[in-house]
Amino acid sequence: MTRFIAAKKHFGQNFLQDDAVVAAIVSAFAAQKGERVLEIGPGQGVLTQHLLTSGAVVDVVEIDNDLIAHLERRYPQLQQHIHHQDALTFSLTQLNLSQEKVRIIGNLPYNISTPLLFHLLAQKDHISDMLFMLQQEVVERLAAQPGCKAYGRLSVMVQLQCRVQALFSVPPQAFKPQPKVMSKIVYLVPHEKPLYAITSMAVLENMLRDAFNQRRKTIQNSLKQYFNAEQFIALGLDPKIRAEQISVEQWVKLANAVTPSFGNYTEPRPLGSG
Ligand code: SAM
Repeated sequence: MTRFIAAKKHFGQNFLQDDAVVAAIVSAFAAQKGERVLEIGPGQGVLTQHLLTSGAVVDVVEIDNDLIAHLERRYPQLQQHIHHQDALTFSLTQLNLSQEKVRIIGNLPYNISTPLLFHLLAQKDHISDMLFMLQQEVVERLAAQPGCKAYGRLSVMVQLQCRVQALFSVPPQAFKPQPKVMSKIVYLVPHEKPLYAITSMAVLENMLRDAFNQRRKTIQNSLKQYFNAEQFIALGLDPKIRAEQISVEQWVKLANAVTPSFGNYTEPRPLGSG
């Protein structure tokens, strides 16, 4: 395939050039005939062409005018399925799904990957699974277990809502232009319901942000606006541990403990802002 469109840095354009990596991604996703598939950021269509060959019903959402023109020319069979839009504002209801769920794939622009993940998680009832290429460090955070340096807000929020499977790493040489970082493929399958019953995702998110913004402090310091030492002990937690030592289940317990009577509750701050 000819790849001739100049990459735009502000759109996070690192086009896949390595056919073996493309084949590995396509095989891991294994699109089937008749399935509804949404590709985010198709670029010049290096993955799209394989998705179309599988017989899946493919929609794509792409922000860049030049790439839209290219996709329309090159893949006339996509016709009404090309959405010229920012994926951060794209609603899955635009796909006119009936009962079926959509599978999502994308070599994502790394500059928007965290807010995009949250945007999709908010619509997860319409999603059967997702396979993404992300910055390796982000995949490590998604899959991290308590006690690890990479474990944080993203790990807790995503693991509560999805099964996370880190697949394989992809080196910078697989792209043009080459990114400065390693990349990794991650596979996410939304749980039917959150892993543990959570009263308010927004409260959990605010609590996680407060705790992990001061991750070196003990929880009796970083979460003092929520609990005192006795309350931590009553909830089965040592007040001297740090945020990264608390499991997803324990985080849910903490958030639920304050939700009914939390007088100072404010709306969550914008996603991805720290
Ligand atoms: N899938 C292609 C590939 O693997 O070669 C391109 C991947 S490139 C890393 C990211 C793609 O996402 C680019 O095509 C870029 O224009 C597109 N993109 C960037 N920001 C976007 C946004 N907010 N909404 C939709 N697409 C976006």
